[in-house]
Amino acid sequence: MKALLLAAGLGTRLRPLTEVTPKPLLPIKGRPLLEIHLDQLRAAGVYEVLINTHYEHGQFFSLAKVYMQAHPEMYITLVNEPKLLGSAGTLAKNAEFFRGEREFLVINADNLTTINYRKLIKFHRSRGSAMMTIATESVREEERSKKGIVEFHIDNRATRFFEKPCAGETTCTNANAGIYVMTERALEALDMIRISRAPRGVLTGDLRDSEEVYDLGRHFIPEVIASSRDVWVYHMFKSLENEHLLDIGTPEDYARAQEVDWIKIGPRRKVCFLDRDGVINIKAPEHQYITSAKDFVLVPSAVNVLVLLKVLGYEFIVVTNQRGVALGWMSQEDLDEIHAYMREQLARYDVEILDIFTCMHEEDSCDCRKPKDGLLRQACAKYDIDLANSLIISDANADIAMGVEFGLGATVFTERDGFLPSRTWKRK
Ligand SMILES: [Mg+2]
Repeated sequence: MKALLLAAGLGTRLRPLTEVTPKPLLPIKGRPLLEIHLDQLRAAGVYEVLINTHYEHGQFFSLAKVYMQAHPEMYITLVNEPKLLGSAGTLAKNAEFFRGEREFLVINADNLTTINYRKLIKFHRSRGSAMMTIATESVREEERSKKGIVEFHIDNRATRFFEKPCAGETTCTNANAGIYVMTERALEALDMIRISRAPRGVLTGDLRDSEEVYDLGRHFIPEVIASSRDVWVYHMFKSLENEHLLDIGTPEDYARAQEVDWIKIGPRRKVCFLDRDGVINIKAPEHQYITSAKDFVLVPSAVNVLVLLKVLGYEFIVVTNQRGVALGWMSQEDLDEIHAYMREQLARYDVEILDIFTCMHEEDSCDCRKPKDGLLRQACAKYDIDLANSLIISDANADIAMGVEFGLGATVFTERDGFLPSRTWKRK
């Protein structure tokens, strides 16, 4: 998948900071904002990125070069705009880059965000052959006049758009996050709307070379929503999904960005997620649970695999469903004891478990019981996990599907009690 990172803004409100460093290259906790964007795209499986620049092009070039050396799977293209074209103008000018793509992302690189790109794309695809999806966040009423407000129908179809609305124009507080999923049809609409906006006489010339600034928020989006019933609204849910957005446009917001706890800085972790029963320990018979440490028997050859993965640099996180707690077959203390015993057994082979995330709920009563991805999300909220270089091992097909959907780099399906198929579990 491909993405456009819009990085040509002047960052005037952040002067003098932005006089020497373009806004997308300003450090957030010591790392350039643009590098954080690239990491997030890479984690979402977006490997081809186009970045438009305006001034200090050389600084972007250096960053892109170093980034591609560190991450050979990434292919970054820079385009310099000596004269600003506007966000829609940039997109129109570089339309060829996206030709033939089922869909692609367009992202305002001025913002700091933890949007779940995979979920955004999944939402877009769930709308059938949608032309375009706009990611939005909920803002306070007093912030409305500074934002692009997207009104929407109950089915999440965008109905009207106001760029920085005046008082009384709208009561909606759903604001454009500057993140879009677009398609070739959106590119066609982009050209159509541009032609309709062009002053007389310009129509005969090559519109792509037109001097005019063409902006997504001011020009394209209000028109496309008014003329198409196929633009959709994705809501970033801060509390549930840990999705945040912060515009670092003002000195105050830039200072705030240095303090947010939702952008994790530091070495990214390469994790091997492990299903427990049937992978680490011999599984109990169907509809039974391991309810005490004395029933916990390691799958012997699993240890060999874990030692090998450890040498390859993986850390281990166990993600396990233990409905037996909800059913009253064991207490949480029993489970803690089992897990302490598991850690102890693995420590004999020098294998350390970084963390254990457990769903102890009844079926259909939570968002963490696998194959739902809540446990993986909890792990990602706590640790900075490099999903593209992480994997999951499970003896359940549903876990494998969950891992693929979540964007893990690899999944390993094992037979139940996999590394030693002839062994059967016996309750003592
Ligand atoms: Mg299992």
